[in-house]
Amino acid sequence: MSNIVAIVGRPNVGKSTLYNRLTETRKAIVDDTSGVTRDRHYGVAEWIGKPFTVVDTGGYVAHSEDVFEAAIREQVLIAIEEATVILFMVDVTTGITDLDDSITDVLRRSKKPVLVVANKVDNNQLLNDTHIFHGLGLGEIFPISSMTGSGTGELLDEAVSHFNDLQEEESTLPKFSIVGRPNVGKSSLINALIGKERNIVTPIAGTTRDSIHIHYNQFGHEFMLIDTAGLRKKTKVKENLEFYSVMRTIKAIEEADVNILMIDAVDGIESQDINIFHLAEKNKKGIVILINKWDLIEKNQNTTKVFEETIRERLAPFNDVPIVFTSVIEKQRIFKAVEAAQAVYENKIKKIPTSKLNDIMLPIIENTPPPALKGKHIKIKYITQIQASSPMFAFFCNLPQYIKDPYKRFLENKLRENFDFTGVPIQIFFRQK
Ligand code: GDP
Ligand code: GDP
Repeated sequence: MSNIVAIVGRPNVGKSTLYNRLTETRKAIVDDTSGVTRDRHYGVAEWIGKPFTVVDTGGYVAHSEDVFEAAIREQVLIAIEEATVILFMVDVTTGITDLDDSITDVLRRSKKPVLVVANKVDNNQLLNDTHIFHGLGLGEIFPISSMTGSGTGELLDEAVSHFNDLQEEESTLPKFSIVGRPNVGKSSLINALIGKERNIVTPIAGTTRDSIHIHYNQFGHEFMLIDTAGLRKKTKVKENLEFYSVMRTIKAIEEADVNILMIDAVDGIESQDINIFHLAEKNKKGIVILINKWDLIEKNQNTTKVFEETIRERLAPFNDVPIVFTSVIEKQRIFKAVEAAQAVYENKIKKIPTSKLNDIMLPIIENTPPPALKGKHIKIKYITQIQASSPMFAFFCNLPQYIKDPYKRFLENKLRENFDFTGVPIQIFFRQK
């Protein structure tokens, strides 16, 4: 079940500052070099052990004057429909503006929790000024300073208290979702798989009523397909179409065990594709990549190989994922794609016996131990796989804090070489023993 926190509000109140603080990606620096951060307004955050997706709606607002207010109002409607909790941000230094009133008007219809966040409360004097926002009639006010971070703890405590419980799952079947930019072929693929007998099993209760789970059981494969592609809604404001599709994508990613990410062979891999990929990765989901519309590509002997290498380069460091070249139109390799998703699912739930793990990994570690730090030798004594919904390993050692990232990557690579974890993010922890 997905938990989405959407930050709404007029421009300049500080939405993206809060967004950056919550997602606080050390990765952002890395992403910058590949030009990825530019169009990324959603990311994964965590509070008291609960992961959630934050969406900064401001990134999607239309900029021309005449559509401005309409765009924001529509965006708030979409947020109400799609998010778990809505943070309505206002600015203590300006008080209530006309646009704040207009947004409030839309928010009043929300059945979802709305938390009024008074931002830019950088000092205690400004605290008194926040009382004016009771005039909005939306309940309690959460004073924060996005700049310094003060007040965000209380805000997040309240936000996570509205999250959906994770274990209302009804089915033990693997769940696959098909994600990707508009027009890559998602609906076509679902139609090719399901045909006309769209057997709608569970329009899930509650907040996710609008994502459809389709029970697939043919040709020796049984799984649930999460269908958001067919649920395209009309938006009056063009710019909001992307916002809408982003909200849908986030949900599809979070609800599935394995995300089938479709990429258009003609366009090649773009920053939006990589954003979706990273979101799935950060959510510890299985991933299969389909390069669709392969029928449209003129090929020689090397085309597939070169294409695949380019994609793996763009996805690095996590590029141990299946890549399948499909043509949905010509029904090429569709079942190979399903088989790949199934295999990734098996990898995701696989549990390596402790004895086997140690038999293989300890000699490798002995040969290439972690580099000594400050004259201290680091000794890894044993390894176990922790019970979790995706592969997670604990390495017990004398000085866990001394092991650096390069060695962690080395261990991950060795795990991948020796046990098949293709398509699945791996987590590694070092613990004191
Ligand atoms: P958005 O348009 O709502 O996303 O707003 P931004 O996050 O871009 O912030 C608008 C301006 O307000 C920027 O100049 C920020 O530096 C400033 N700002 C954001 N949060 C705070 C805060 O907590 N205190 C102060 N004093 N300024 C802030
Ligand atoms: P969605 O927006 O991702 O759901 O994409 P659609 O399934 O609606 O497909 C968009 C367009 O691409 C449609 O015109 C499809 O017929 C076309 N299309 C889908 N898959 C393929 C393919 O493998 N090859 C070609 N040539 N066209 C495709």
